[in-house]
Amino acid sequence: MLPNEGAVRCEWCTTPAVAGATSCAACGGPVRLLEPWVLECGWCGRSNRRDETPSCLGCAGPLPTIPGGHPGPRPPEAPRELPPGYPLRVLFTKNVFAIVGAAFTIPFCWTLVFPLAGIPLWVHGHRRARRWLDALERGFATGGEIVSIRQDRTQSINRRHPWRIEFEYETPGGRLKGHVEAWDPAHAQRVPGEHVWVVYAPGDPAVHALWPPVH
Ligand SMILES: [Zn+2]
Ligand SMILES: [Zn+2]
Repeated sequence: MLPNEGAVRCEWCTTPAVAGATSCAACGGPVRLLEPWVLECGWCGRSNRRDETPSCLGCAGPLPTIPGGHPGPRPPEAPRELPPGYPLRVLFTKNVFAIVGAAFTIPFCWTLVFPLAGIPLWVHGHRRARRWLDALERGFATGGEIVSIRQDRTQSINRRHPWRIEFEYETPGGRLKGHVEAWDPAHAQRVPGEHVWVVYAPGDPAVHALWPPVH
């Protein structure tokens, strides 16, 4: 097959479709001609051919849906098992507030001023990460809809800017606004009106994440 040629597959699980079928025999997902799509895994960052696999070849976590397509299957029932290594990255190695807080606190613990600045930052970073993991692991799943996608020029790493994906989601208390940041430029292809799955923390519906997460 030519590299640019798509194949008729299930959008959810990528199983090749039976001729003439409108839904997937394996999972019931929508079937269509899937063009080649490279998406970064929201759990570990690895690039994957999303039209060929629904889960990451590196960490086995579910990959983001194809931009412009259907939302994936409903998130699994809570408590959800997250890919190995992900909680530790969220809590420690990718936690900017916790890293900066620890950097101010540990080497300067003999002073008073730096820990005074560092510890609250550290605690803030830890709580924020814990709430994010809580939404993913134990959160209620609900339908959401993207309202806008734009580049966030207030942030940059190596002259790259993240994409800010804004969405609204339903909760028993009403429709709430949410957003996530994504560095993978593939998300620029998402469109307002696209449906997504959102998980929100049981104790605080304002604490939310996309399911599966984006990178
Ligand atoms: Zn399927
Ligand atoms: Zn992964």
